[in-house]
Amino acid sequence: MPIHTKSIKIFAPATVANLSCGFDVLGCCLDTVGDEMVISISSTPGTRITKIEGANLPLDTKKNVAGVAVEALLENYDSEIGVEIEIYKKIKAGSGIGSSAASSAGAVWAVNQLLGGPFTHQELIAFAMKGEKLASGNAHADNVAPALMGGFTLVRSYTPLDVIKLHTPQDLMITVIHPLIEVKTSDSRSVLKQKVMLKKAIQQWGNLGGFISGLYTEDYDLIGRSLEDVIIEPLRSILIPEYDNVKQAAIAQGALGCGISGSGPSIYALSKGADTAEKVANAIREVYKKTAVSFDIHISKINTQGIKII
Ligand code: ADP
Repeated sequence: MPIHTKSIKIFAPATVANLSCGFDVLGCCLDTVGDEMVISISSTPGTRITKIEGANLPLDTKKNVAGVAVEALLENYDSEIGVEIEIYKKIKAGSGIGSSAASSAGAVWAVNQLLGGPFTHQELIAFAMKGEKLASGNAHADNVAPALMGGFTLVRSYTPLDVIKLHTPQDLMITVIHPLIEVKTSDSRSVLKQKVMLKKAIQQWGNLGGFISGLYTEDYDLIGRSLEDVIIEPLRSILIPEYDNVKQAAIAQGALGCGISGSGPSIYALSKGADTAEKVANAIREVYKKTAVSFDIHISKINTQGIKII
C-alpha cells in the first residue's frame, strides 16, 4: 500500500469556452458547477487514478485526461514522486462545459500546490492541454485556462503559449442549459471548415476586440453587441435541438447575448444581474420542456478565483 505523504481536496469548476466571438481563445469560469477531486502525493512513484465516482470514465492513467496531464507535469519535475487521484465527477462528459478540462486542470493545479508551487499558470496550462488533446484530439486551452486562472481568459497565442487573464465586470452572470445528448468535441470539430472568408474574419475579430473592451469598461451593451459568431455557430448550431428558439427566448428576457458553449450541446447566455439570469433560465427551460430531451440548467456568477481547495 503506498503511503500518502500529503493530500488535498479541490473544487475543479466548469468553464464556458469560445463565448461566440472567441473560438479557441476565449473562456470563462463558473462557480456553481464543478467536480471535486482528492489528490495525494505518495511514496510509490507513478501516477494512479484510484477512484472515479459519478461517471463511467477510464481508471487507466493513459486514457484519463487527469492522468495524462499529471504525467506531463511529472516529466518536467526532477524528483521521483507518486501521485494518486480520486475524481468525483459532477460535470457530465461531452457537455461542452469543460468536463475534461476540469479534470486535467484540477489535477495539475493540485499537484503543483502539493509540491509547493514550482510551476507558473502558463506551465500548468500547457500540461493540462495534454489532457485536452487526449479528450478531443486538439490541445486547446480555452477551458483549462479559465479553470486554472479564474474569470475570463484570452489565449493571445498558442505558439508560444501566451494566456492573459481579463477583467470581470461585477454584475456579469451566466446561464447555461445542458441538453442531455452527447456531442463529442471531436465530432463537432469535424463539421468545421478550415477556410474562413475575409469578410467574416473581419466581423469576428471586430467582435472579439469589442468584447474585451466591454469587459474592461464594464460596458454591458458593448459586451452584448459583441457576442456574435458568424463563423462557427452557423455550422455547429444545427447539432443542437431548439438552438434558435433558446437564443430567441434568452434575448427576449434581456440576455446580453447567447451562443454555443464550447463545442456544445450546452448553450450559454450572459446577463447583467442575477434577476435577468434567472428570467433567462426560466425562459429557456420552457423551450426545452416542450421537447423530449432532458436537460440541466446552471446559473452562475463568473468565478474569478478558479480551482480552489475545499
Ligand atoms: P467536454 O467539453 O465536456 O470536456 P469533451 O468531449 O471535450 O467534453 O471531453 C470528454 C471526453 O474526454 C470523453 O470522451 C471522455 O471519455 C474523455 N475523458 C477522459 N478522461 C476524462 C475525465 N477525467 N473527465 C472527463 N472526460 C474525460
